[in-house]
Amino acid sequence: MNQVNRKYKRLVIKMETPIAKTGNGPAVGGKINNLLLLGNLTKNSSEGKKYLVKGLRGWINHAMMTLAKEEGVEVCHTSEKTETQKGVSLLPEGFHAAGKCNEEEEEECLKHKLMGSFRKPSKIQFEPVIIISNYYKGKIPNGVQVMHIATEKRNALKQHTKEAIQDFGERYFAGEFTLTINFREELSQEELGFLLKTILYAPELRLGAAGNNGAGKVTIKEVHLQQVERSRGFNAQGKVVEEEKTRNLHKEMREAMNA
Ligand SMILES: [Zn+2]
Repeated sequence: MNQVNRKYKRLVIKMETPIAKTGNGPAVGGKINNLLLLGNLTKNSSEGKKYLVKGLRGWINHAMMTLAKEEGVEVCHTSEKTETQKGVSLLPEGFHAAGKCNEEEEEECLKHKLMGSFRKPSKIQFEPVIIISNYYKGKIPNGVQVMHIATEKRNALKQHTKEAIQDFGERYFAGEFTLTINFREELSQEELGFLLKTILYAPELRLGAAGNNGAGKVTIKEVHLQQVERSRGFNAQGKVVEEEKTRNLHKEMREAMNA
């Protein structure tokens, strides 16, 4: 054996947003950087600024919960806590605490099977979506997606004097991007079907912040279930050679939708 191989499945989801401001929940006041800047660039660096789009897993998680509720299926809530110290219930109707699926029957709910919990790893793994501005004219690094990225500068003024009391900027991005979800193990037809329906449902929820002001609208344009076969080995000079073969599994995808 002169190389290592791995065979797995993944979903490749192509989508588009006119404007999205993603982050880790709403940040109140101060300077808001919605996208996470990767690397520490010096002034003379010829490299473009790369940003990690946050909030995609949370968006899918949320869509899964909303869809399950609409379909009347009980699933895990994102929280493991069932009530406050004062005994006030924290879980809305139709949800159980994360990982507390029908404990007696040892049957997990669909969301737990797919997304796991603190104690159980998720069956699916989100590839990071890393983007670079379309103003950048240099070489685009491997695996980085080109999008429109800009900062909306805003300020809050004092009522009578028009004196600025707060200055902040919200970074946003726009355009087409691809999200890849890798399967760490084989999904059942039912699990795959639920995941596909969740993805189709997700545009009903806004991605990221400022949804009520028009941000975060997403259109899902294409979804492909793929079989991936990857191998990695050395050539005679000790350089690592990687090969990837992919095959679309459209029939399997259609069957899962009916499961
Ligand atoms: Zn559950």
